[in-house]
Amino acid sequence: MEHISISEQNSDQQVPALNTWPRLNDDAIERVISCLKSRQLSGSGLDIINEFEASVERWLGGGHVVSTNSGTSALMVALLALGIKPGDTVICPAYTWCATPHAALLIGAKPKFVAIDPATYNICPNALRQAMSSDVKAIMVVHMHGMCCDMDAISEVVREFSVPVVGDCAQAHGARYKGREVGLLSDVDCFSMQKSKHLSAGDGGYCVTKDPKLAQKIRDICNFGVETPKTNYRFDDVLRDGYEVFRECDQIGGMFRLNPLCAALAIDQLQELDSHIAGVQSVMNDLLTMADDLPFFKISRPISGSTHVWHKIRVGISEDAVAFTGLPMAEIRRQLRAALAESGIPTTLWTAPILPLQTGLAEWSGQTDWTVTPTHFAIESSFMVFDENFPLIAQDKDIARQQVAMLVSVWKQYFSETA
Ligand SMILES: *Cc1c(COP(=O)(O)O)cnc(C)c1O
Repeated sequence: MEHISISEQNSDQQVPALNTWPRLNDDAIERVISCLKSRQLSGSGLDIINEFEASVERWLGGGHVVSTNSGTSALMVALLALGIKPGDTVICPAYTWCATPHAALLIGAKPKFVAIDPATYNICPNALRQAMSSDVKAIMVVHMHGMCCDMDAISEVVREFSVPVVGDCAQAHGARYKGREVGLLSDVDCFSMQKSKHLSAGDGGYCVTKDPKLAQKIRDICNFGVETPKTNYRFDDVLRDGYEVFRECDQIGGMFRLNPLCAALAIDQLQELDSHIAGVQSVMNDLLTMADDLPFFKISRPISGSTHVWHKIRVGISEDAVAFTGLPMAEIRRQLRAALAESGIPTTLWTAPILPLQTGLAEWSGQTDWTVTPTHFAIESSFMVFDENFPLIAQDKDIARQQVAMLVSVWKQYFSETA
């Protein structure tokens, strides 16, 4: 049999192997190869899937994990399992990746956009309270960029209205809120394992819930709505009303299961995730310290007792910069991004404008003129620093520190020259 060497193949590529994300060690590659050799490439109740789910449960220290083939599927099946029906209204922050409202729309529900807090880019609890009505059947909160929403304030609103909460935790693997793990904060917490995320399987996702019945429902929905035992996955035909029933679908579902090869990839990364996160946090703590002396520089800081895992690093330009420079905000942002690019620091808008102003979602923008809201201004006056495909967490710590230092120096210089 011909032997394919992964490292040889990599040598042709532009990006050095060390600097790619996710980092795939030899154990991960071996595990994928043995999964291939097992010929167990699809199906339910597979050992590798069970092993992956159990390792996430151990890592979280609780909850029932059901893996899915993407973060979008995780959100969709969470809503379905919670009983969201076509026509129901589901609250969603006005800024997130479009997958959040799409998950609601794909099952026929209607997203209702709620303002974000410009200091955190997370859903604003006061705006959430104002948006609540008897039509609202679920609330989706998103822990943006790796920093947790104010869950206590959200829980208060929820208690009053008694609706389920779905957490979009796609960017927040490993984050904590007041000492509690993201993953165990909502009725169902949903994660993505797309390639950019802190825990990556290439593509994939998972749901976490503390309710074992709900977990089983999610597992069934991920398998065409057919009852799907996690272990001993086998079926007997049952006689009912004189005819045989076999592998019956008893609710609406689809094919949303995680691919076993992807599960094989993710298992090893989980073992290194905490140390990777600690690395990016230590570099970012340096930036938070320096940020105090940077003119017009805004960056989110986690509330006390909580952590930020820095999946994305969004920096904002405070409004005072407009009076100081005499330039419109859009021009300041353009010039800053150009200056950073010149010094080798890539930036991106990630997704813009805010969702109610995006063409495919404008229909759901409601009565609000979003162009004059603090939510719109917060996004129009900020941007992401560093390479999305080559995030800070992927880098050698010294290189990451150099990048942060360069960001600080370019920023200072820009405002000292643009007075
Ligand atoms: C990545 C992401 C998703 C979608 O996850 P996929 O696995 O790509 O479907 C959803 N929400 C947020 C906030 C994300 O960043």
